[in-house]
Amino acid sequence: MAKRELHPIAPGEIAVIGLGRSGIAASELLLSRGRTVYACDDSSSASIAQAAEKLAMRGATVQTGGHDALRIARATAVVVSPGVPPDAAPILAARNAERQILSEIEIALRYAPDLQYIAVTGTNGKTTTTALIGHLLRSLGVSAPDAGNIGTPLSAVVNESVLPEWVSLELSSFQLHDTPGIDPNVGVLTNLSADHLDRYANVDEYFGDKALMFRNATTESHWVINADDPASLQMVGGIAGLQHHFSLTAPADAWYDRDAGCLTVNGDALLPRRDLALLGDHNVANALAAALAVINASELFGSAGSRSTIADALRSFRAMPNRLEVVGEWNGIEWINDSKATNVASALVAVQGMTRPTVLLLGGRHKGEPYTALAEPIRSHVKHIIAFGEAASIVEQDLSGVAPLTRVNGSFEDVMATARKLADAGDVVLLSPACSSYDMFNNYVERGKRFRALAESRDG
Ligand code: ADP
Repeated sequence: MAKRELHPIAPGEIAVIGLGRSGIAASELLLSRGRTVYACDDSSSASIAQAAEKLAMRGATVQTGGHDALRIARATAVVVSPGVPPDAAPILAARNAERQILSEIEIALRYAPDLQYIAVTGTNGKTTTTALIGHLLRSLGVSAPDAGNIGTPLSAVVNESVLPEWVSLELSSFQLHDTPGIDPNVGVLTNLSADHLDRYANVDEYFGDKALMFRNATTESHWVINADDPASLQMVGGIAGLQHHFSLTAPADAWYDRDAGCLTVNGDALLPRRDLALLGDHNVANALAAALAVINASELFGSAGSRSTIADALRSFRAMPNRLEVVGEWNGIEWINDSKATNVASALVAVQGMTRPTVLLLGGRHKGEPYTALAEPIRSHVKHIIAFGEAASIVEQDLSGVAPLTRVNGSFEDVMATARKLADAGDVVLLSPACSSYDMFNNYVERGKRFRALAESRDG
């Protein structure tokens, strides 16, 4: 019997808006299940054109470089990629016609009602925690891909001939918005802080989307919650199901016993902190959350043997690219790429995690939050701030007087050359920009790549 009830999508054409990875995967899944698909993308770039051609060959009606608002308005359901802004014309067409708007995740869940999955959401640490959970599950001998926001669309996983035993699923607030069927075996909320104020009217609206992870909570549900974060605790107050708490500061189901230097789960030491090859306390929190989620996902995973496998898997997990990733050390200067720190909270934990005098590269496209929250850790860890990109003047305004600050108005090459001049042997140069990358790069991955290339290029 299906674990969850399957709600089929009513007959008729389904419109898919946006031909990125998730739009393509949703279209392919729908087509393989015999559905009629109209897929469109307002862009007509080479990669979109290629995707369009492939889908057309499989029987979809595809439009690039525009969309047919009337056709969208007639569709049975409209699948929206998380990257398409909510005020984009095709989405407005769907909303005005009161069409049912569904995420690609929802499409996948409708076709896999038995899927066992651990869902991860929160403001920061989603990808790292999702990757940790997938790594732990696989180390336990279970087939368990990482999916969702982390990379592989869930629809692609569901479209495989055999369903995996488990999925570690990262969910952004945008994905949760249109996923009414979300019902994870275990749901993890890493933390909550202001973000995406460029897309949401206010923090409450953003938190409201995060809270949708709990929309189908029952007494059988398991939730892994950050006990150090008042906003998370407030969100889950009164939610049905069993709550498992993790903490960096006080005894909890999983916690960091700092005096003993140990990650502790359900009262027993799991592994020494020094065995975890990740920088920063926040990564201890991510590891605790991941272990707690897996241990509570199935009785099998909570046995003594499984705990020791989980500890070994935590030991072998390495920092993910662009997340406090040590690029290398040359002439006594260490270069750390934290390009994924696209909000103030993630830059904050990065700066807090520094153990050497730090030259901090801060800036990019401003997302609406003030940088003043960084003042305290900057005072203790940062010897010089380099403010760059569109946000440079706001960074300067918010942090002048907190530490010496140089504003670079030029290219990223200029930023790196300035960092090189300011750093001495024994220092760290940390790119943890607290901003999005879109003023200078296509995305944070490109920004991290450029940082690495420039850091490596002056070797010697
Ligand atoms: P997300 O997928 O939520 O963006 P990532 O794991 O990709 O999270 O990390 C994004 C940024 O946030 C990185 O700079 C990383 O160092 C930082 N970060 C990771 N985990 C946490 C956490 N638990 N709390 C705060 N910041 C974190």
